[in-house]
Amino acid sequence: MAYEAVIGLECHIQLNTRSKMFCGCPAEFGAAANSNVCPVCLGLPGALPVTNRAAVDAAVRLGLALGSAIRGESVFARKHYFYPDMPKNYQITQYDRPLCEGGALPVRLGETRRGFDLIRVHAEEDTGKSFHPERHGDRQVSRVDFNRAGVPLLELVTQPDFREPAECAAFLTTLRRLVRWLGISDGDMEKGQLRCDANVSIRPPGQPAFGTKTELKNLNSIKGVEKGLAAEIARQTRVVTGGGTIEQATLLYDADHDKLAIMRTKEHAHDYRYFPEPDLPLLRVDQAWVAAARADLPELPWDRAARFVARYGLPDYDAGLLCDQRELADYYEAVAARTDGKLASNWVMTEVLRVLKERGWSLADCSARVPAARLADLLERVLARALPGPLAKQVFAWMVDEPGDVDALLARHAVSVRSSDADLIPLVQAALDEHPGPVAQYLAGKTATLGFLVGQVMKKSGGQAVPQAVKELLEAELKKRASAG
Ligand SMILES: [Zn+2]
Repeated sequence: MAYEAVIGLECHIQLNTRSKMFCGCPAEFGAAANSNVCPVCLGLPGALPVTNRAAVDAAVRLGLALGSAIRGESVFARKHYFYPDMPKNYQITQYDRPLCEGGALPVRLGETRRGFDLIRVHAEEDTGKSFHPERHGDRQVSRVDFNRAGVPLLELVTQPDFREPAECAAFLTTLRRLVRWLGISDGDMEKGQLRCDANVSIRPPGQPAFGTKTELKNLNSIKGVEKGLAAEIARQTRVVTGGGTIEQATLLYDADHDKLAIMRTKEHAHDYRYFPEPDLPLLRVDQAWVAAARADLPELPWDRAARFVARYGLPDYDAGLLCDQRELADYYEAVAARTDGKLASNWVMTEVLRVLKERGWSLADCSARVPAARLADLLERVLARALPGPLAKQVFAWMVDEPGDVDALLARHAVSVRSSDADLIPLVQAALDEHPGPVAQYLAGKTATLGFLVGQVMKKSGGQAVPQAVKELLEAELKKRASAG
């Protein structure tokens, strides 16, 4: 019997604020171990936390982008558990009164778009990091780095709305794009800036009650999330079809070996002994703050993609791709404002993205060399049929490495373009004179021979003519010969 999977995600987003959540230590990645620490983030007696306003603002912005309700008064709470890399032995997080509640993330799944509902988004602090085991002579050594202890995190919890691992992967891809778009996190899963735990259970299709769930921890790539979930769904299905029962547990997925390991049986919520953090006041986010954050919110990626479809007539897929990064969407739109939007889209998606890929460049690297106006000039020449496509692509490649406008580049590379009617008419006439057979066929109504004739003229031009212009000149000339004959 086939089972249906029910999956919910808990995502942790590490914010890119300058300082930590409750102290002034730098929140940077990659500093020397235990160099970014102070009494607050080391949990020393008597140290008092102070909330980072920029981190709260990032949470408000994300909440608004997701359509969550922003709570005017939310509460930080202590979540108690022992972990060697958590110096206070509790984490400051939010519990029963989180900052953002509800909302949804619209995710593109193939040809459809679906909103995945959220339970909450709240602010909290990260733990430090343990490294183990290392061997020193005959001893096993574990090390701990507290630089990450206290770095601001947002925790986003979804409803158990996912049925397929691929939906979770699409959700995470969209979430990563959104946090980058908002500029609140770099969202790099390999660096732990975006982390994902998943709750998963199975049930016979049509059964309303959930099965017993297990939790997959620390999935550190989008591919890993998809593969880990598939492995766990397969494991649960094997257990249940073999007559066994699922035990509530926390599992680790080893993506390199595609293996699951049971880490521990799950703590229940009451084990954490949550209570309101006595060292912090209520977190107040007033209407003015929310209004300012809303006014400052950029046009969201899915809204922008929809606008590209409506305004420039792009296919959904192309618009989605251009809105993959805010910088790319900005660049595209700056080109499209100066020339044809569809042509601009084709060029940005092929030529520009190819250069980024081949050279390992950021969009800023490329646009510093080929600003939008320079690309638009080139595309205007293509539109005016003054440059054949392959030559235009060559000119773009020169633009990436050399200064100068289109004419200067053509002159520097000693390329003459034979694209004016005066250049082409003699070639057209010569081609027609040399191929009376296809001409007769064309005039007899077999218009498919036109392609052959276009090819002949292109060959005579040494590839420097624009095929569309050649086609039109041929048609005009053939029409003249038809009425003359
Ligand atoms: Zn600190």
